[in-house]
Amino acid sequence: MNRSMKPSHVMILAVFAAGLVTLLLFISRCSTFSNVLLETENSLDRFLLQQSMLHDRLKSAVAEIDRVTQDSQQKPDLPTIYAITPTYKRFTQKADLTRLSQTFMHIPNFHWVVVEDAEKTSKIVKDLLTVKKIRFTHLAVKTQVKLLKKESDPHWKKHRGVDQRNLGLRWIRENIKDKSGVVYFADDDNTYDIDLFEEMRFTKSVSVWPVALVGGLRWEGPICVYGKVLSFFTAWQPEREFPLDMAAFAINIDIIQKYRQSYINPESKLGYLETDYLQSFNIKKEDMEPKANNCRKILVWHTQTVEPKMKQEKRLKALGMASDPSIDI
Ligand code: UDP
Ligand code: MN
Repeated sequence: MNRSMKPSHVMILAVFAAGLVTLLLFISRCSTFSNVLLETENSLDRFLLQQSMLHDRLKSAVAEIDRVTQDSQQKPDLPTIYAITPTYKRFTQKADLTRLSQTFMHIPNFHWVVVEDAEKTSKIVKDLLTVKKIRFTHLAVKTQVKLLKKESDPHWKKHRGVDQRNLGLRWIRENIKDKSGVVYFADDDNTYDIDLFEEMRFTKSVSVWPVALVGGLRWEGPICVYGKVLSFFTAWQPEREFPLDMAAFAINIDIIQKYRQSYINPESKLGYLETDYLQSFNIKKEDMEPKANNCRKILVWHTQTVEPKMKQEKRLKALGMASDPSIDI
């Protein structure tokens, strides 16, 4: 038998070899191509990230210009409203602060003192504040351990936001001198009508008004006759001298400066935070200034944001498929 190759075999082999070489070349090209694709995608990602960072910087620069312009437009004879807002990290924090900032941005001569219940100020709150056209001061203090509510305690069991309001007060006392204004405690989950701020702006000592959806009532607050506080409508511990919610009063800054030792007392009995604080200014109900149509108009609601359910998020987390944590909510 002739063992030498036939020319047809040589041809087949040559075609096969050429095919193999082409295939190998193709595969290597493909992998280079996919590398190029990957590289392009990465640089596109980097570009988009830079774009979004630039956009954020531009937005805060514009907000700063707006703030400066607003400052130059501020009327020196118009008292400033200093609103102290305690806030803490939770799912609805950004939503609550967004709603609040979008109310406050409409108020002239306004200074927002935001105090986080945390060791240090957070990026999420800082970013939110810097892009808003509002003059602000951003502080942080963690609630003292003895004031913390236990996991098993009901929500109302301990005072909330006390250390934060007191830090805000101290900042105002130390930094705002010889300026006319009022101080107001604006919790982050209430709803405010912008008219409320014009009501309180010219407060001489302590101005008061009703707050809706608080104390287990439709509204709670002062009952006023001919521009004077006659009594208070409340259902809970009516023996309190001033049964008022934190959102129901504003104090002239001169009084805040005069009574330098007046702070919110973390040791106050539950429900006595506001009355103890107001009593520390030696104020009588006859001296209080009723606002909001002789205390008949609701301009603030103690709405409280409901805690969102995270059942699906927890389920997906257990499967390693939770929502992208790099997206701030
Ligand atoms: N707050 C805080 N730390 C907490 C709980 C609450 O700083 O651990 C803040 C909160 O953001 C709000 C204020 O304190 O501005 C009052 O708290 P909350 O609204 O929970 O009290 P409520 O209105 O239900 O009495
Ligand atoms: Mn609240």
